[in-house]
Amino acid sequence: MFRSDDLIGLGMEADAIRRKHHPDGVVSYIIDRNINYTNFCTEYCSFCAFYRPMGSKEGYILPREVIFDKIQETIDLGGTGILFQGGLHPDLKIEWYEDLLRAIKAKFDIWCHCFSAPEITNIAEVSGLSLRDTIARLRDAGLDSIPGGGAEILDDAVRHRISRLKCGTQEWIDVHRTAHELGMRTTATMMFGCGETIEQRMNHFDIVRQIQEDTGGFTAFIPWAFQRELTSLGRFIKEEATSVEYLKTLAISRIYLDNIENIQSSWVTPGLKICQLGLRFGGNDVGSIMIEENVVSAAGTHHQATEEELRRMIRDAGFVPKQRDTLYRTYFLN
Ligand code: SF4
Repeated sequence: MFRSDDLIGLGMEADAIRRKHHPDGVVSYIIDRNINYTNFCTEYCSFCAFYRPMGSKEGYILPREVIFDKIQETIDLGGTGILFQGGLHPDLKIEWYEDLLRAIKAKFDIWCHCFSAPEITNIAEVSGLSLRDTIARLRDAGLDSIPGGGAEILDDAVRHRISRLKCGTQEWIDVHRTAHELGMRTTATMMFGCGETIEQRMNHFDIVRQIQEDTGGFTAFIPWAFQRELTSLGRFIKEEATSVEYLKTLAISRIYLDNIENIQSSWVTPGLKICQLGLRFGGNDVGSIMIEENVVSAAGTHHQATEEELRRMIRDAGFVPKQRDTLYRTYFLN
């Protein structure tokens, strides 16, 4: 399929599978906020323009009051969740995260979809805890679900090249399997177009598919293309994935991962118009309104969308727009 030029054929096949999962023609979106609580990081991933090394004057840890204000603003805008993502800080032990989650839950009725696998392995390491204890303690403090970030390509040869210090393939798998065993839902992602082979991309799909076969814990799969601008990896990867490559990868995700209910057609990196086309290439969700996003915009992407724009784009493609929550439930919203 990756080597095929039959883009429309792939789209039609993916669309048929999308229709089986979502016969009601609903395309969902969420209003939530990505809060990047710190940009200090010790991992130096070459595709990342967001992190600052320890001691940098541009580094920060957000004070609690700022985090609370951002959450209140999210709720005021009709948001249902927050997504915490940050760098891997070597001094923040689990108590810092537990206290923060407890304080949030005491103050707000908001879903906490937080800390991707590399952050969780870092918290475990810094705190001298097992992965299971770390996830269970975070869950007990208020963590509701875990985002799939940090997967990039689940192949150690690729990871060694682009994110040598960050968690390996097996650690990413272990975090998600453990969370599923503990009854939590997570998402799976893939960042492609960073010089990987088609086989390495397929192996990534296969790992995600196998976990889903065993646990059923993934709510969604979110493929997105590497943004080269302002990253050090961008010096070596001269050509970003084209729109055709994005749509093909989206369609193949829908076809191959037919055991995952939701596939996201993203607008943050490819832009709204390609995102709209993606709804006929297997996507049934357009992700978040993104009240705030610092990580991708640090790499040079500045697409923005309001709720009304997203709804119009979904309607214009022939679908019914519906706001959803983090678990992809739409029944209690409009
Ligand atoms: S991608 Fe994450 S782990 Fe890697 S340098 Fe950036 S913030 Fe750190």
